[in-house]
Amino acid sequence: MPNALVWFRHDLRLDDNPALQAALDEGFTPLPVYVHAPAEEGEWVPGAASQAWLGRSLESLDASLRQRGSRLLIRHGASRRTLQDLIDASGATAVFWNRKYEPATQPRDAAIKQALRDNGLRAESFNGSLLIEPWDIATQQGQPYKVFTPFWRAAQTRLRLPAPWTAPPRLPAVDDAITGVPLEALELRPRPSWDIGFWEAWIPGEAGAREALEIFIEGALNGYRTDRDRPDRTGTSRLSPHLHFGEIAPWRIMAELERVRSAANGADMEGYIRELGWREFAYHLLHHFPHTTTQDLNPRFAHFDWAKVDPAALEAWQRGRTGVPIIDAGLRELWTTGYMHNRVRMIVASYLTKHLRYHWLHGAHWFWDTLVDADLANNTLGWQWTAGTGADAAPYFRVFNPVTQAEKFDPRGEYIARWVPELAALPVPLRFAPWQKPDLLAHVAPDYPRGPIMDLAEGRDGALAAYRDSGG
Ligand code: FAD
Repeated sequence: MPNALVWFRHDLRLDDNPALQAALDEGFTPLPVYVHAPAEEGEWVPGAASQAWLGRSLESLDASLRQRGSRLLIRHGASRRTLQDLIDASGATAVFWNRKYEPATQPRDAAIKQALRDNGLRAESFNGSLLIEPWDIATQQGQPYKVFTPFWRAAQTRLRLPAPWTAPPRLPAVDDAITGVPLEALELRPRPSWDIGFWEAWIPGEAGAREALEIFIEGALNGYRTDRDRPDRTGTSRLSPHLHFGEIAPWRIMAELERVRSAANGADMEGYIRELGWREFAYHLLHHFPHTTTQDLNPRFAHFDWAKVDPAALEAWQRGRTGVPIIDAGLRELWTTGYMHNRVRMIVASYLTKHLRYHWLHGAHWFWDTLVDADLANNTLGWQWTAGTGADAAPYFRVFNPVTQAEKFDPRGEYIARWVPELAALPVPLRFAPWQKPDLLAHVAPDYPRGPIMDLAEGRDGALAAYRDSGG
C-alpha cells in the first residue's frame, strides 16, 4: 500500500478524523505525523498552559495509535521542509490534513498545499473541527456576518453533521526506518512542574474528551440553561480544551446529544448547542476579520482613551490580588487549573477593560498564556465582546458590577471561598465586598488587600466618561 502522511494539528483524535479516514478509504498506509513549529503561529505562539496540554494530548494520541499497531512520528522544524523530509524518507505520495483557520496558519497551509501539488503529490485538506466553515455562509448581501443571532439562524439550516466514524481497531504499522524525535525533545512539559493542579482537573486526549462528554450528558446537561452561569456549580461541559485541540469533533457532540434528547432536556440541549454556535461564530469572525486578533473590530475604538498600564495593578489582576473577591477567585482558578468559568471570565474582563480601562489585549495575552483552552477565535471574540469593541458586543457603557454579579451567580459565596480561602471565614454577604467591614477583614484575612485596587464607583465613572469623550 502506498504511504500517505496524515498531518495532525488541532485534530488530536482518531475517531471522526476526516484526514485519517480519507487516507484509509483511499487505500493508503497512513503515517501519522506531528510537526512542532510554534514560531509559525505568528503573533500567537501557543502559551505555557497550551503547551503543557499539547504534550499530554500528543502522548495520548501516540498511545492510541500504538494500541492499534501504528505510532506517531514527531518532528520539529519548519512545517514545509519537515513534511518534505518525511516524504523523502517514506516515499509517501500524498499528504492529508484537517484545516486550521488562524491568520498565520491559513496562508502557510495554502502555500504547502500548492508546493506539494507542484511536486506531483496529492495534498488534500478537510474540515475536522467546525459545523460550518467560515466561507460556507454569508449575509444576503454576500458579506460576512457580524451579529450572532442571524448568523446562527442561517447556519443551523446548513450544519455539516457527518455520521460519526470510529477508527479501525488495527492500523497499518509504520516502517521502523522512518524516525521521529521523542516527545520530550519538544520540551512541552513545564519545568519546574507548575502544572500539577491542572491534571487533577483534566484528562487531555481523546479518551478524556469522551469521558468529559459522558459526564456532562449524565449530569450538567440537565439544568444547563440555568446552571451554566453558576461558577459555584459544575454547570457546563468543560469541553473547551478538548474542542480546541480537536480531541473531539463538534458533530460527535451533537450526535451524542441527539441520542439522549427528550422532552425534558430539549431546552437545555438547545441552550448548549447555541454555545457551540458561538464557537462557530468566533471562527467565522476570525477568518473574515483576521486583524481583530490584535485590533478592535469596531473602528470607533481606535482613538479611545485607554488608560496607561500600571504594572503593579496589572500584576495584581493577573495573580488574583485585586481586592475584589469574585475577580480574585476567577484569576486564581485560572492560575491553578488553567481554566476559568465563562461568567467569571466576563466579570474579570469587564473589570480590566472598564474599571481599570486597560486595552483588552492585556487581558487576552494573559489568558493566552494561562488557559488550557486558549483559542484564538474564542479568546478574541470573548475579549472584544466584553470590552465592547467587537462584533455583536456588549456595549462599552454596560459595566459589570462585580459585587452584584457575585451575589447573583455565586449566591452563597462558595466559589469565592474555594479560590480565595482566606475569605471563607467571613459571613456570606461580606465575602462579596469584604472592604465594607475593614476591621473584620483585617482580623480574618490580614494579607488580603484592604480594598479594590480600583474603587468600583470611580472606575465605572472613569470608563463612562472616557466612552462619552470618545463620542459615545
Ligand atoms: P460550555 O458552556 O459547556 O460550552 C460548550 C462549548 O461551547 C465550549 O467548550 C466552547 O467551545 C463553546 N463556547 C461556550 N461559550 C462560548 C463563547 N462565549 N464563545 C465561544 N465559544 C463558546 N473559550 C475558549 O474555548 N477559549 C478561549 O480562549 C476563550 N477565551 C475567552 C475569553 C473571554 C474574555 C470570555 C468572556 C470567554 C472566553 N471563552 C473562551 C468562551 C468561554 O468562556 C469558554 O468557551 C467556556 O467557559 C468553556 O467552558 P465549557 O467548555 O465548560 O463551556
